[in-house]
Amino acid sequence: MVGGVVTLLFGICQHAVPKQIIDIIRVVTNVNYEPIINKKFMITFVRHAEIQLFSNFIDRYADAELLRNRTEHITVVVPGDIFAGAFWDSDPFAFNRVINNGCIWYNEYKVNEIGLDQEECYACIAHELGHMMDPNQRNPEHQQDREIYADRIACELGLRDSMISALHKMIDYYQQPNGAADDNVRIENLQERINVLA
Ligand SMILES: [Zn+2]
Repeated sequence: MVGGVVTLLFGICQHAVPKQIIDIIRVVTNVNYEPIINKKFMITFVRHAEIQLFSNFIDRYADAELLRNRTEHITVVVPGDIFAGAFWDSDPFAFNRVINNGCIWYNEYKVNEIGLDQEECYACIAHELGHMMDPNQRNPEHQQDREIYADRIACELGLRDSMISALHKMIDYYQQPNGAADDNVRIENLQERINVLA
């Protein structure tokens, strides 16, 4: 019943729910739903919400038109987690749509090695959210198309320049002898994404 009320409020309320209604729900359920109900940005990062980068991202893009009214709860997977094996260690960020209905990989060690700054990390997170929003069918042959689609989401959040510089840094990094090199296709694909963005 409570879930129904909350869902209904999510559904009908474009504006803040009045305090009286919040108070009634609080009395009936003994739970304060205020922070949940009156939050415009409903994407949440589950379990690793305490990771500063992801909390900052939520704060920063709380009013973004693109992300408003979405309700996904996205698990952040970090090295050592139970699902870490589903990701490549060499990726700073990645998205897997199957596990937990969608989760983001975040490898802080790799982020630091590549030298991504905060804005570039935001661009990467936006890119991964772009994979989540991608309505296209999964088809391994169209991987690069999906990357380009996801980059567009970063652009829509105003992160075009940071996306481009993040991709440049990844190319520099992966070209190093110890940086998972010998992967020319990977570097060509990153370069193509820069060309599309520029
Ligand atoms: Zn991607």
